[in-house]
Amino acid sequence: MVIVMQPGASEERVQAVIERLVEKGFDVHRSTGVERTVLGAIGSKNGVDFRDFELLEGVQEVIRITEPYKLAGRTFQKENSQIKAGGVVIGGPEVVLMAGPCSVESRTQIKTIAKLVKEAGAKVLRGGAFKPRTSPYSFQGLGEEGLKYLREAADAFGLLTVSEIMDRMDIPIAIRYIDIIQIGARNMQNFTLLRELGNLNKPILLKRGMAATIDELLMAAEYVMSGGNRQVILCERGIRTFENATRNTLDISAIPVVKKKSHLPIIADPSHGTGLRDHVAPMARAAVAAGADGLLIEVHPEPDKALSDGAQSLYPEQFTGLVRELRIVAEAIGRKI
Ligand code: PEP
Ligand code: MN
Repeated sequence: MVIVMQPGASEERVQAVIERLVEKGFDVHRSTGVERTVLGAIGSKNGVDFRDFELLEGVQEVIRITEPYKLAGRTFQKENSQIKAGGVVIGGPEVVLMAGPCSVESRTQIKTIAKLVKEAGAKVLRGGAFKPRTSPYSFQGLGEEGLKYLREAADAFGLLTVSEIMDRMDIPIAIRYIDIIQIGARNMQNFTLLRELGNLNKPILLKRGMAATIDELLMAAEYVMSGGNRQVILCERGIRTFENATRNTLDISAIPVVKKKSHLPIIADPSHGTGLRDHVAPMARAAVAAGADGLLIEVHPEPDKALSDGAQSLYPEQFTGLVRELRIVAEAIGRKI
């Protein structure tokens, strides 16, 4: 942290700031210029609120120079993290496709779509069993029964599973059926849940909250990682903006920004990111071009009859066509699908 004092701040005020820094456990390096004094504070300790220093008399500006996410950030780990699930590596040269319906609706539905997405090139089967619906009257998911169908379908076609849990009470069930545990946008800052996930030895797919900054997403990842579970995959799924032509605004620029700040893999979800199936393919291509390590895409055997998110779910043949295009984009940037 660097503290810039106001021009002409008195020696008394500079000393008061230094004393406060020392009290908080910082080493202080002072540089006294012609116009102003600058204090470099090294060794930030837990529990320091940087705003406290901003409020001290004579302080003009406080600049934080190390990011607060030590484990998720690139500062202490330069090379990309590769997260392994079964035989699949997320964060390596391959762009990993995760596809399937928004919700598992029946044994037949998930089995039908598992076969189709596998044939198209997906490695991971998605399907929600615990659904965070805006209305309590909407379909809430099949719970454990849904996870059983998901597992069965995935195993039948050599796929991995990704599915959301909303509560730490669901963890014992989840670890039996799910290879990659998804934490949805609405729970990105459910800190008790995140802490609990830190005790697991399972990949976590952490979705960006709809009003979360990139730094907040990385801090949420830090919660999981600080508990000991370093297997975090981030997911850009669109944020709320003033634009209402799409369900959310898929922040493609978050992909290169995250890549710069963090070594963790990041995938994109153009289905929730746009909310409309017509816009899913262009944004999927854009996300791969921007460096996404994978995609999470909703595909339904009969989108018009879907119990959730039908409007943004691709028809199976659309998904197959999209994967063909994605292979070309991936190859153009030295990756593969
Ligand atoms: C989902 O993937 O079905 C979902 C509910 O996603 P999000 O948390 O991004 O809204
Ligand atoms: Mn959905």
